[in-house]
Order: sequence, then structure tokens, then C-alpha cells
Amino acid sequence: MTIQEQAGLLAEEASLFACPVCGEAMEMTGSSLRCAKGHSYDVAKPGYVNLLRNPPSTRYDKSLFVSRRKLMEDGLFDSLLDRLAERIQANEAPQESSGSAPRLLDAGCGEGSPLVRLQERLAGRAGLELLGVGVDLAKEGIRLAARSSSRTVWCVGDLANSPFRDGSFRYILSLLSPSNYAEFRRLLEADGLVLKVVPQADYLQELRARLYGDSLRPEEEARQAADWFRQHFQLADEETVRYSFPVREETWSELLAMTPLAWKATAEQLAEVRQSPPAEVTVSMRILAGRRPG
Ligand SMILES: [Zn+2]
Repeated sequence: MTIQEQAGLLAEEASLFACPVCGEAMEMTGSSLRCAKGHSYDVAKPGYVNLLRNPPSTRYDKSLFVSRRKLMEDGLFDSLLDRLAERIQANEAPQESSGSAPRLLDAGCGEGSPLVRLQERLAGRAGLELLGVGVDLAKEGIRLAARSSSRTVWCVGDLANSPFRDGSFRYILSLLSPSNYAEFRRLLEADGLVLKVVPQADYLQELRARLYGDSLRPEEEARQAADWFRQHFQLADEETVRYSFPVREETWSELLAMTPLAWKATAEQLAEVRQSPPAEVTVSMRILAGRRPG
């Protein structure tokens, strides 16, 4: 998106935002979102708004996001995104169209391609136009995301103090990202749906095996994540999505570059592992769908 396109979209959707400093409503003035008390947030190139005053330091640098994007383009998460699209579609089917497009927040959207690809699936197969809103702490991720031509609001922001008004989203997606459930509950429409994607013990087990010998993540992690979810939302349904993804030579380097799994490895370990790509890797996720407790 260009700066002008993003500014136009933000002007239409200004009612979505609340000032992260004072909580006041915001409106677009020129190329800035501005609250009644005068806090102002500029739209920047290539087309996103930065609502963070003090950006944190992070290990999620640009090269990591570039690797993730290539893997998404290769289709690493396509089958997962198919299922998410079907789940959303099933939720929409009985609802009367209310005129304005339902909003879908990707909380911790990184470089944005999962959100864009999900929007494309919904529009293409179901004729369902959702307004995508991608937010992430990492500016490098959002800058990359904003290069897409998708009609999506992109913002750098903090989910713990998120710059949106109550009940703004029909859907909130949290894909392999830390979640702030108190904020999710605040942001969700009364009959909205939270979709939490939790990696399972065998997710990328081939990579783990080569790096650390033991191939499985602790079962406990996935279980705790599911329990934590159920404490905050009424579980509507859950399912496991599991498939093998064929690894090409380039894909393997990207996989090593994109995952925090490799951060603990030494340079020697990484160099060695790079030489021995598996034929395929396992993608294994649990999708938890939840609603606000009554
Ligand atoms: Zn303000």
C-alpha cells in the first residue's frame, strides 16, 4: 500500500482506534492519526501507522521477517490458513450481512503474509470481504507487511496497551504469537471469535532433531497454552492440523533463519545442520476457537 492509500483507509476506519496514551478517540488529520488531546501518530512509508512511542529492542530483525515471508510464499502455512478460512466462513454463514465489513485482527502479525493470505482466501472462495488489521511490536515486520497491495490496516503497536476501542473485532487471530487475553476480550465483539493457533510437540520436529537431538517440544507447553486459553474464553471448538511440508534446499535455510528454535544454536551447529536438510518438515498446530465468556 502507498502512504496515501493507507491514510485513506485509516480515515475510513478511524473509529477503530483509541489513543494508546490517553484512550481518547482518534481521527485522521492530514497524514496523521490524532486524538482530541493532541497526541499524534504519523502514517509512514510504505503505508502503516506507528502507535508506539518507545519501540522495544527485539531479536525479530528484518532478515528473519524476510525468511518468514519466503516460507509463506512457498506455502508453509497454506493448509493451516485453509482451515482458518473455513472456520471463519462457517462462523459467518448464518449471519446476516450488516453492511460494514467485519474486522479481523492479527495480533502479532509479523511480516503480515498470513493475514493477507487469509483475507485472499476468504474473498476468493467465500466472497467474504473482511477488513484485516495487522499489529505487531516489530516495526521491521510491519514495514514489510505494508508493502503488500492488500487492503489492510497495518500498525506498529503494543498488544498490552493496544490502540483500539472496545469490541472492535469480530475475529482475533493469534498465530504462534504471545497473547494478551485480557486485551483480546476487551477488543472482541460480543459474539466474536478468537482463533488461537498453538504449535504442537511435533511442530518442526525435524529441525529440532537436527539442532538438539531430541525431536519433540515438551508436551506440557502445548497443554498449558490450551489450558490458559480455556481460562479466558469459552471454548467453541478445537482441532489439530498436521501435515508434511516438502523441503527444498532454499526452504531449509529459510526455516533455520526464521525460527527462534535456532537462536540457541552455535554457529558451528547451524553450519552443520544447514548441510543436512530433511525431505520434509512437520507442521502441527492446534486451532482453539473461543468466545467471550457469557
Ligand atoms: Zn491521546
